Amino acid sequence: MRIVSLAGGIGGARFLRGLKAAAPDAEITVIGNTGDDITLFGLRVCPDLDTVMYTLGGGINEEQGWGRADETFTVKSELAAYGVEPQWFGLGDRDLATHIVRTQMLSAGYPLSQVTEALCTRWNPGVRLIPMSDDRVETHVVIEDEQGRRAIHFQEWWVRLRASVPAQRIVLVGADEAKPAPGVLEAIAEADVVILPPSNPVVSIGTILQIRGIREALEPKPVVGVSPIIGGAPVRGMADACLTAIGVPTTAQAVLELYGTPLINGWLVAEEDRDVALDGVRVVARPLLMTDLEAAADIARAALRLAEEVAA
Ligand code: GDP
Ligand code: CA
Repeated sequence: MRIVSLAGGIGGARFLRGLKAAAPDAEITVIGNTGDDITLFGLRVCPDLDTVMYTLGGGINEEQGWGRADETFTVKSELAAYGVEPQWFGLGDRDLATHIVRTQMLSAGYPLSQVTEALCTRWNPGVRLIPMSDDRVETHVVIEDEQGRRAIHFQEWWVRLRASVPAQRIVLVGADEAKPAPGVLEAIAEADVVILPPSNPVVSIGTILQIRGIREALEPKPVVGVSPIIGGAPVRGMADACLTAIGVPTTAQAVLELYGTPLINGWLVAEEDRDVALDGVRVVARPLLMTDLEAAADIARAALRLAEEVAA
């Protein structure tokens, strides 16, 4: 079986770990979000690709859900001692090695997709991880505060401001010119099923769907989504702030409608959201909390069963 999955960071990575356990013989291709990528201290940082790579490769900080296990922050505190900004982004010493290797390869002219493949030879994530695009696209957020109305990088809004200042708009800069990375459309064309994990519907899945040609390629496929919203709230993180910014209520129903048909054929919701319905979509209610690997694998199995049903 060939499975394609889109993925953001924590929600995507934890689901993928379950998917690997649920379908050990499947060929899984993951299309990763790069809208959150940022250049810090001259280094190219790809938070979502790294979260997937570290989680599936056994290097993740489990409690935090991002960054490396057994991490230290010597470089970060040394930079702070020089008063260098930004100090709000947590770059650990081990993690920095990844960004140094990536930046070196990018500077040598390798596209991000090849760099990601090279990084994955160390981590052996057990899936093929491809960035959504080799072209630079960045999610920016329009806010208004004491300094006036301005656009800031997504990470500044998310990490520094903890999304406490309302987003007036969320813009994917570069989306019009960006092409899917090599292998993305091919993997979708060859996929038997496509799964949208419970990643952020606006700044993770929504971002990937904005890259030219990806949504269109997915539409004819059996696509099953897992709701990141349970009982009117995100399970973790601040996805509600992103949904509010684009005028979408924080409900499993509204996220389903945001993805819409003909893209979505099956939608997994939590038991408290069992009333969710949309013409042309088969909705199944079940526990959706990824409390551990077994729980994530059960959700993945349910997604695969639903995909088989809607494909038939
Ligand atoms: P990020 O890039 O690290 O923010 O991670 P993602 O975009 O992959 O995922 C964030 C989304 O995952 C949030 O909207 C959460 O509500 C959702 N999420 C996290 N854990 C769970 C879970 O156990 N179950 C479900 N259904 N959603 C989850
Ligand atoms: Ca992210």
